Amino acid sequence: RDDVQETRVVMTAERTQRRIIAVGSGKGGVGKSTLTANLAIGLAKRGHKVGLVDADIYGPSQPVILGNQGEKPVARDKKLVPVESAVGIPVLSMGHLVEPGRALAWRGPMAGNALTQLIDAHWGDVDTLVVDLPPGTGDVQLTMMQRFKPLGAVLVSTPQDLALIDAARAGQLFDQAGVPVIGLVENMAGYACPHCGEISDPFGKGGVETAAGRLDLPFLGRIPLDLAIREGSDRGAPPALDTGALGAPFHDIAAKVDA
Ligand code: ADP
Repeated sequence: RDDVQETRVVMTAERTQRRIIAVGSGKGGVGKSTLTANLAIGLAKRGHKVGLVDADIYGPSQPVILGNQGEKPVARDKKLVPVESAVGIPVLSMGHLVEPGRALAWRGPMAGNALTQLIDAHWGDVDTLVVDLPPGTGDVQLTMMQRFKPLGAVLVSTPQDLALIDAARAGQLFDQAGVPVIGLVENMAGYACPHCGEISDPFGKGGVETAAGRLDLPFLGRIPLDLAIREGSDRGAPPALDTGALGAPFHDIAAKVDA
């Protein structure tokens, strides 16, 4: 019993000194993991000591985005030691705990316990933990809110109506749990044709900003659909490392999240 109590005290102490920012989305494939990695880099550039937890049980992609695929964390005193990444952000991922493609079978308590292992780890002097949540509103999100109470959540959506409705639903879940929604990000807005430069809007445009206004939530910014973002993410070179136009939207968003 004493042991249990002691663990609780330690966890609370750690929680108060480390802010947790959760990144969520209503559905998959909208760029939540891409934003999480680049937000983490943006916050680190602003002087914070940032760690990244990849809790996306359905498709843990941070080891690929951050370029430390195949590296396994070790455990010390029954807690995991985060893996360093080439971009200077320590990371722990669901992908580190299970074979790729097998995590999908996890449900309920198992998923919650896995999340706890990732968050209650040896994060050392990390002051900001950015968490890549699974899409939607499932067990991992519930554990996240009940056990670790993030400072706030950032929600990502494409401008499409359906993705937006799902994002609004996810927003409600956070709100009800007392986790403030820091704001909404519109991803994959506006595509510049690599041949003629003409901008088209495959998923529409401005929908997320309008929805943010309707839901009375801050709008944090718009990220264009850009082949360079996809290519960089696939080879462990996230666009936020770029100090020019490619990284700019991510740094703007990081500044607003930091405010
Ligand atoms: P999610 O985490 O929501 O499932 P990802 O971040 O994994 O989505 O993104 C899905 C795919 O789309 C990835 O291949 C990613 O590189 C790509 N992608 C995300 N955002 C953009 C963007 N703005 N421009 C181009 N490709 C993008």
